[in-house]
Amino acid sequence: MEIQRVAVIIEDDADIRDLLNAVLQQSGFKVFTAPNGSEGVETVRLHNPTVVTLDLGLPDIDGFEVIRQLRQFSDAYIVMLTARAEELDTLMGLEAGADDYITKPFRPRELRARISAMLRRPRGESAADADRPVSAGDPSRTGSGAPVTEHAPASSAAPAAPAAPGTFAHNGLTLNPGTRTTEIEGKGVELTRTEFDLLQALLEGGRLVRTKTDLVRRLRGEEYDTGSFISDADERTVEVHVGNLRRKLGDDSKAPRWLETVRGVGYRLAPQA
Ligand code: CA
Repeated sequence: MEIQRVAVIIEDDADIRDLLNAVLQQSGFKVFTAPNGSEGVETVRLHNPTVVTLDLGLPDIDGFEVIRQLRQFSDAYIVMLTARAEELDTLMGLEAGADDYITKPFRPRELRARISAMLRRPRGESAADADRPVSAGDPSRTGSGAPVTEHAPASSAAPAAPAAPGTFAHNGLTLNPGTRTTEIEGKGVELTRTEFDLLQALLEGGRLVRTKTDLVRRLRGEEYDTGSFISDADERTVEVHVGNLRRKLGDDSKAPRWLETVRGVGYRLAPQA
């Protein structure tokens, strides 16, 4: 049983590596580092971290390939470190399966904020929630530091009806927040934690539109509308994650079974089939 959370730093610049190491240790992580992509992949395989920081410019394999390899076996929260003015790289990295990014030079408090936001997000296999049996309407499930979303009015915009206690079901898809599992017609779908959290937010919202800003805040673990600044780049991050989610679910944006785009605003659940 591992109590201390693990982080892996994949970074070829020794100064940045030391800085990341200090920040992550201060945040309570046991830290392992790797100076290149191939050692990074092996380090992640060996230590099964919760968080991975990844420099996109590595001396051996490129960062996108590292992300693709990591996603074969790891659901770690992957934060890319990118040079400024490389937005295309950022989008490609997100498409390859990274969760978030920070531009260099970064401020330690920015990284700390991202990490603690990620830790506030519930995680089935390690969160205290998972130790308890999940029962329908159990108020303690929302009292554990998990972000609580606004509730849809119980009328026409009601959320999807739960299939089993604590789970969501919609058009053949089920999502279980307790076990962090998703299935389509009973067949498991592997999602990253970011994709899972987005899907859960949309299932909770039902036919109510979730704006991109709202979804960024959800991923940051912020209370609804705290007034913090959300950039266009943050909103594009959500667009890429939704695109990845669609691809994994096999959903068609033109005739969606689950994720409906509301142009210029955000997303909502497609109607019940
Ligand atoms: Ca580098």
